[in-house]
Amino acid sequence: MAEKRKYLNYINGEWKEPGTGDFYENFNPADDQESLGLYPLSDVEDVKAAIGSAEKAFSEWKNLSPAARSDYMSRFLEVMAEDRDRIGEVVCREAGKILKEALAEPERGIEEVGYFIGEGQRLEGITMPSSRPGVSSVAVRVPLGVVAAITPWNFPFLTPLRKVIPALVTGNTVVLKPASATPLSGVIIAELFEKAGLPTGVFNLVLGSGKVVGDAIASDPRVKGISFTGSTAVGRGINTQAAANFTKIQLEMGGKNPAIVADCLNLENAAAQITSSAFALSGQRCTSISRVIVMEKDADRLEALIADKMKDYKLGNGLEPDVSLGPIISRSAGEKIMNYISDAVDAGAEIKAGGRQLEGGIFDKGFYIEPTLLSNVSPDMAAAREEIFGPVLVTIPVNSFDEAMKIANDTEYGLSASLFTDSLPLINKFQNEMETGMTHTNHGTVTDGTMPFGGVKNSGLGPFSKGKTNRDFFTNIRVNYVKYV
Ligand code: NAP
Repeated sequence: MAEKRKYLNYINGEWKEPGTGDFYENFNPADDQESLGLYPLSDVEDVKAAIGSAEKAFSEWKNLSPAARSDYMSRFLEVMAEDRDRIGEVVCREAGKILKEALAEPERGIEEVGYFIGEGQRLEGITMPSSRPGVSSVAVRVPLGVVAAITPWNFPFLTPLRKVIPALVTGNTVVLKPASATPLSGVIIAELFEKAGLPTGVFNLVLGSGKVVGDAIASDPRVKGISFTGSTAVGRGINTQAAANFTKIQLEMGGKNPAIVADCLNLENAAAQITSSAFALSGQRCTSISRVIVMEKDADRLEALIADKMKDYKLGNGLEPDVSLGPIISRSAGEKIMNYISDAVDAGAEIKAGGRQLEGGIFDKGFYIEPTLLSNVSPDMAAAREEIFGPVLVTIPVNSFDEAMKIANDTEYGLSASLFTDSLPLINKFQNEMETGMTHTNHGTVTDGTMPFGGVKNSGLGPFSKGKTNRDFFTNIRVNYVKYV
């Protein structure tokens, strides 16, 4: 049997074995017979070395001109674009995405990296006339120092890019800790930086478990900023650790995103948009629509339209061209999703479509759940309040728009919300009263690469990522006064 490929940490410009000498094996969630290689189970000493390396590289890197730093990022962009097909295939195998969605990560990466390379050269500050004669006052943007990126498995290539590129181009040095389920995407990012000739120590990669590696990063006072994307529970822990060192944070966390359907003439369009936003990546997106709050009079028709569209999905290994939905990332995540479905049914919900874990053939090599529509769900059920992070959509019938808004806002989360309507006053009310970082009217939850992205309440803390706001996280302001006379 061929020896399995061993991947390493990237610290101080070298590929390094973990201090523990221990590795774990990773598998394709679509096919648990397909090994994706062996990855380091790093320890606290590896993390310390990576942070030390980033700290050492900081003073030289921050003193490069923005144009010089942007040149390195442009070289990264070039080598990334050349490698996009391999990147897409790796994302497909690691995260269990269908190939089309996996290829969209490097494609979207090209757009977003290009945008931020430009943004890194527009780090304008603030000037104001001084109230004192002969004094100038100028506020400039300065990098934080060592910045850590801790990232989830569901966008394993794109999410790290959204952190690492803005951090570097604004003059910070970086330690990246990718999710244990998708380490190879992180390895590829390190390889691309190596190929782009990034100076030693500016970018470092440490692989291993969140509890050990993530925890050691979050509690190290040499780390001046932590950009985290992942679950609210882990984000809460990082927030507490970071607070002890006054480390700046950018947290992007879970969601329970509603779609309200009210005074909507085109239910067919609403159903199409809701279905694709609910079930893409088997509902394992932070912005997946997971609740439909619909006027009672339209509920039956809308449910029928959604159930009809759900018939088009074909589950399987995302590498197969006709497959449109992949597996759940892990067995434990799949079991949790199935429990949500059975608990909701026990509490009186009705399964309108799907609801089963598939078995036999390829379905025994991963955890595959049919796209599921639950109706007759009351707002107090766990399936209507908690992030399921799976292919489960619930419908909640209501009698007024005010009632819909009340239910939409009545969760701990505040990431994204959609409204399907033909009424301008309702759009106005929705945009004014929705307690989320993003709203979408008459479409699903697709966002633009150049616009800020983030949430409020337990979905996000700190400046929004992507777009212009990202630099508010990756730079601090320094105000310089000079007295000339
Ligand atoms: P997760 O379990 O919270 O893990 C996220 C990252 O944190 C992983 O790298 C993980 O490492 C690490 N981690 C785990 N425990 C840690 C600890 N004690 N200290 C420091 N780091 C730790 O999330 P996930 O399952 O990968 O991703 C799904 C979640 O991410 C969902 O809740 C989803 O809504 C959210 N998400 C949010 C956004 C957004 O923009 N708002 C985008 C995408 C996903 P290991 O993998 O080694 O455990």
